[in-house]
Amino acid sequence: MSADTTQGDKGLLLTNTLTRTKEKFVPMDASSVRMYVCGPTVYDYAHVGNARPVVVFDVLARLLRQLYGKDHVTYVRNITDVDDKINERAASEGRSIREVTETTVAQYHADMAALGALPPDVEPRATEHIEEMKEMIETLVKKGHAYVADDHVLFHVPSMPEYGQLSNRTLDEMIAGARVEVASYKKDPTDFVLWKPSKENEPGWDSPCAIETPGRPGWHIECSAMSEKHLGKVFDIHGGGIDLTFPHHENEIAQSRCAHGTHAMANVWLHNGFLQVEGEKMSKSLGNFFTVHQLLDTEEGGGRKWSGQAIRYALLQTQYRQPIDFTFKSLAEGEKQLTRWAELLKKHGVTAQSDGAPDQGVLDGLLDDLNTPRAFAALHKLAREARSGDVEAAQKLANSVNFLGFDLESYSKAQAEEKAEANVSPELKKKVEELIAKRLEARRAKDFAESDRIRDELAADGVVLKDMKNKETGEIETTWTCA
Ligand code: AMP
Ligand code: ZN
Repeated sequence: MSADTTQGDKGLLLTNTLTRTKEKFVPMDASSVRMYVCGPTVYDYAHVGNARPVVVFDVLARLLRQLYGKDHVTYVRNITDVDDKINERAASEGRSIREVTETTVAQYHADMAALGALPPDVEPRATEHIEEMKEMIETLVKKGHAYVADDHVLFHVPSMPEYGQLSNRTLDEMIAGARVEVASYKKDPTDFVLWKPSKENEPGWDSPCAIETPGRPGWHIECSAMSEKHLGKVFDIHGGGIDLTFPHHENEIAQSRCAHGTHAMANVWLHNGFLQVEGEKMSKSLGNFFTVHQLLDTEEGGGRKWSGQAIRYALLQTQYRQPIDFTFKSLAEGEKQLTRWAELLKKHGVTAQSDGAPDQGVLDGLLDDLNTPRAFAALHKLAREARSGDVEAAQKLANSVNFLGFDLESYSKAQAEEKAEANVSPELKKKVEELIAKRLEARRAKDFAESDRIRDELAADGVVLKDMKNKETGEIETTWTCA
């Protein structure tokens, strides 16, 4: 693979943590642009902070597909389904590990879809790549970068002189970081675990390096093995939250480069800043978090339900490297803006075109290190022009909003339903839902007299029905409003 700078340079600038500079992005091979992002450890609901990298890298994946073509980008985001936190959660709740991981994965998929994030092209699971991890561990031992001690395999940090380049830390800082886990079998305090023994009731696999006790992989080796399998030994972009820079990404680099003898693991390293609550990182351990699920599905989100799209909106109002303060005000602002845009487009009678290109102003913002505030300023400009009667601007707004991962049609539909629900008694709501189901059944049976009778019965209660064909399934779907 040779770098083709004429084909690969699309004017995209990205801030590379490795070089600490904003650089021109040129993929190794413009016909196969490759990106890896560290995914969730599946033991609990994702909080809004965890959703930030998902939304940020979803925007980047959309941009790369726009620049290089849909079929020329591979976006891999893994699932860590073997981890101490998962074992602890399963034990404390008396559930099987598989039950914890499977339900968490399903919830994660639903929550991220609600945020408008497209699934990655490949979503590898750690437990399905144990053999690849063991192979890499054996290679590292053979090459003198790792050693066996007390049924563990450890990476020997002093064996890699360039260790620490990504996080730019001094040896003292790294030792302080490693002190959390001082173990007598370590040759050096900075050495980290590649493989560890499993206790009886923990998941375990046959160990590498002739270790007899069954064991399980350390966290860092998972990403090195999965990225190699799906993207190759060196790839273009590696992303994650800023907290992953050290030790996780530093260790991934050490493992991959030493195993493969390469100059780099990924050429560009991108890190999103923290989502904060009153100046502190939102995190499970601080207890200052809202899960995406809470905000979407229940009344726990500060007294109301929020739409996934408003959460996406709020997350994109700040450039990805900067910290954001999470507030309900920002979600309310998102709902207000999306409603206004949806109404404006409806007034113009335009919807996003399936192959509609985004506005150049929006693209220019994104090309500048994913400057989403600039991209949104371009959207506001289009909205102003559309408001003064410019239909072309309205069309560009529809296409651009869609490109950024918003679906205003389904947004207004959901808002209308919610409004209708808010204004009626639970008894009437139950009655309406039952009668709508009965009416759809009558229509399927071509009993149009019964279908009309039900419509009239509901009209007497002030309920107006609207039938729409679902474009994907071809089925008729009925929504309702209450006068
Ligand atoms: P974890 O499950 O803790 O490994 O986190 C999954 C992803 O969310 C990682 O990329 C983290 O860096 C990121 N992350 C965790 N907390 C936050 C936060 N408060 N703000 C932004 N990103 C975060
Ligand atoms: Zn990782």
